[in-house]
Amino acid sequence: MKKKKKLSRRVKIGVSISAVCVLLASAPFFYFLSQDPPSQIWSKLFRFSRPACSDFHSLVCSQTGSGSADPTGSVRDDLEAEASARVIFSELIHSHPDWPAEKRSEFLVEAIYTPVRRQEITETFQAVRKAMLRLIKKQPKTVLTRAQKRMLTDRLGKTQLQLPPPAGLYSDDPELLTQNEVYYRRTREKNRDERVLRVGGAYLFAAKSRFNRVFTLAHELAHSIDPCEIKSAGSKLPAYVKLSRCLIEQGLVATPDTRTECGRDDQLSEAFADWMAVQVLAEALQTRKSQHYSDDQILKSAANSIRDLCERPGLLEYDSEHHPPSRVRIERIFGENPAIRARLGCPNTPQSQAYCKFE
Ligand SMILES: [Zn+2]
Repeated sequence: MKKKKKLSRRVKIGVSISAVCVLLASAPFFYFLSQDPPSQIWSKLFRFSRPACSDFHSLVCSQTGSGSADPTGSVRDDLEAEASARVIFSELIHSHPDWPAEKRSEFLVEAIYTPVRRQEITETFQAVRKAMLRLIKKQPKTVLTRAQKRMLTDRLGKTQLQLPPPAGLYSDDPELLTQNEVYYRRTREKNRDERVLRVGGAYLFAAKSRFNRVFTLAHELAHSIDPCEIKSAGSKLPAYVKLSRCLIEQGLVATPDTRTECGRDDQLSEAFADWMAVQVLAEALQTRKSQHYSDDQILKSAANSIRDLCERPGLLEYDSEHHPPSRVRIERIFGENPAIRARLGCPNTPQSQAYCKFE
């Protein structure tokens, strides 16, 4: 499914008339602080008043330009990245006006899809796929039967990452070589389905942050097993029916009168892809390496991962027919995920406790 890249805890310390009661009430608080070296005490105090816990949208979308960098890099502005890719193409036209279009495309691809950039994308894709396979595998049999798991893992396993060179891989969509888009696509080839993920050239310039690659590729790969893809394959999974109902009941998927499931005005597959990607992202934010990040670094990593979900004037058109509004994707699907909240030091809320699950 083509995705436009455009992807408090309130501490109440009651005032008591009894000094003893006050002391008892605050004892756990001081005990909590005393477990840490002084340098971390302020960090924990900061968590209690962290504004991000109640306004992820501002945290993620208020940055302009390249935004901030996390330990793995920054995320460049969509238009800026596309302009860089087009400059390379213009220079090729200018310096070799006699070259045929195919030759120009091959040189463009060599300049953009370098071995290092290709490796970054390939490694992330493989890691994301493994994480998704683990997620499927760990579901109890009462949620997904062995046969259902096999079907889902088979689809994930057979979805290929399609990365140039050669430039001819994208011959039916040559503009992608300079665009900041990543998408999942299913085509019918020789009587069988071919499922691929494609990555636009400008995206290789744009997403230096590994966490942005994780979320973006996980979102697209999740489309290979989203409810509408499974439906079109002729399968019906009770776990999906339950999950879809939850996403609708919680208002994560809009239900206008004009909605038809997996058709017009339906946000189900996009909400599902975000929901899966957030779970993969939560795992990526908890690796041994990222355990050493400071609070600020982990906040910036999380923000960079979903920067493409912001609707910003001047950027690519936002497909609001099939995508939930930006605020729903960021505040609800991302911001209410319990594992994300725990990693960011945010307390659970009634909404996060009711976060949709497979079970
Ligand atoms: Zn999508």
